[in-house]
Amino acid sequence: TLEQQEILDGIRWNEAGLLPAIVQDDKTLEVLMFAYMNPESLKLSLESGQTWFWSRSRGELWHKGGTSGNTQAITSIHYDCDSDTLLVKVKPEGPACHTGEVSCFYRELPLGSKAVDNKPAEEVHSAEKTAGERFEVLAELERIIAEREAERPEGAYTTYLFDKGVDKILKKVGEETAETIIAAKNKDNAELRLEVSDLIYHLLVLLQERKLPLDDIMAELSARHERPRRD
Ligand code: AMP
Ligand code: ZN
Ligand code: ZN
Repeated sequence: TLEQQEILDGIRWNEAGLLPAIVQDDKTLEVLMFAYMNPESLKLSLESGQTWFWSRSRGELWHKGGTSGNTQAITSIHYDCDSDTLLVKVKPEGPACHTGEVSCFYRELPLGSKAVDNKPAEEVHSAEKTAGERFEVLAELERIIAEREAERPEGAYTTYLFDKGVDKILKKVGEETAETIIAAKNKDNAELRLEVSDLIYHLLVLLQERKLPLDDIMAELSARHERPRRD
């Protein structure tokens, strides 16, 4: 388009005629990789909707995922204030790094003692929460599940599970366990977060069906903690 051409005309390629491009996962916002584009690879990226770069080591156009299959579907391209760097957001088809890591930035340089504590505020906060606060949500969920079992409100998924009975609940626990294993194997923490949540919810439904209070589980875990078992 004309608008596109005007922007491209204003791009400031570096001395080597290349443009640094940061590639970011559109959904998780994880920075995936860094590479250079030349005018031809930018043109190919815009035309194909997938990332193309200029490989400096191989001296050739590089279709990311061309051999590995780990292509990147472009969802947006931003250019920075002085038009010399691109931010390419993508939906990745697989790991961005040739090592198999999701992101190329999987290694960390340790900081010196002057560095600020880099723990996210939220994490610091949750570490300071008392056990009661942290597990309040489990107690609340247990209460809601018990209420659903007693009242069986129409259309509620929990009602459906109790109506179907214990075999259906056990089948779901099995499924969610398998999905948890797959997410962990894929090193996909966004997915793992969802699957473990599904698993815990279905375990709580199972406990309610069996009339085994969550407090009994907590007591067992606590007793083990006090008197570690060798198993
Ligand atoms: P691919 O583009 O994923 O099909 O991989 C083809 C080749 O490009 C690999 O064998 C690597 O040499 C190189 N490569 C792939 N991904 C990266 C990356 N993120 N950073 C640097 N080189 C890469
Ligand atoms: Zn800049
Ligand atoms: Zn890499």
